[in-house]
Amino acid sequence: MSVRGGHADEALLLRYRDDACDPATAASVEAHLPTCEACRARLAGLGRAPVVDVAWGRVVAAIGTPEPSPAVRLMRRMGLSEADATLLRAARSLDGSWTIATIAVVAFAALAAIDGGSSGRALYLLVAPLLPVIGVVVAFSSSDSLADLISATPYPKARLALLRTAAVCAASVPLVIAFGAAVPPIGWLAVGWLMPALALTTLTLAAMTWIRPATAGGAAGALWLLIVAAAFATDDVGAAVASGPALGYALVSAVAAACLTVRLKSAHEPGGPR
Ligand SMILES: [Zn+2]
Repeated sequence: MSVRGGHADEALLLRYRDDACDPATAASVEAHLPTCEACRARLAGLGRAPVVDVAWGRVVAAIGTPEPSPAVRLMRRMGLSEADATLLRAARSLDGSWTIATIAVVAFAALAAIDGGSSGRALYLLVAPLLPVIGVVVAFSSSDSLADLISATPYPKARLALLRTAAVCAASVPLVIAFGAAVPPIGWLAVGWLMPALALTTLTLAAMTWIRPATAGGAAGALWLLIVAAAFATDDVGAAVASGPALGYALVSAVAAACLTVRLKSAHEPGGPR
């Protein structure tokens, strides 16, 4: 990147504005802009960036529907800005079909626990923490229309990553708890899965700054399958989320969150180009 004193010079900003940079140069400009108010102001001073307009136009057109999903409506009521809501509505894992798929999977797992005994409870415990993981993988996958937007706009990547993760969790966590609580044999497992879910989701997000989202999600899924299978083999599936392992999940969550924070600060968007 042709920079003076760590900043993008005017010629570079002009080329960026006109979408005339090669992808690597454009990426380095985009990595710099969220961290530098001076360069953002100078870019704004050069006139409206056509790339940004085009990207916004594409996203707004892709969204099309006037009705946001229930999860995004809920977040709007909790103080989410209209611009943030627009970004979230472009994420496939937040649309109605994703919510229906979540309901179908968790209903199947919860119903299996009614008369499936310990194997039914094991199925619920296996599925529950993986729903937010899968939601995050889908929300960050590169075929998402959001990926176009992120690669073309100087939107703070860390904020976007956290927003999308929060929206994914808002769309799946209450549903999974509600189904678990409605089926008595599941008992305390209806909330016991939350700690491993936090660990698996932060681990997946951190891994996604290095490897493809589907690979990161698959590895997290395989790891959780091993843990649940080991507990199931001892005839006590609840052992997978007992206080000892829960401490381990908390530790993993903290380390993965710290790692993710460092990676986001150096502009490594989960699922983004690397
Ligand atoms: Zn700068």
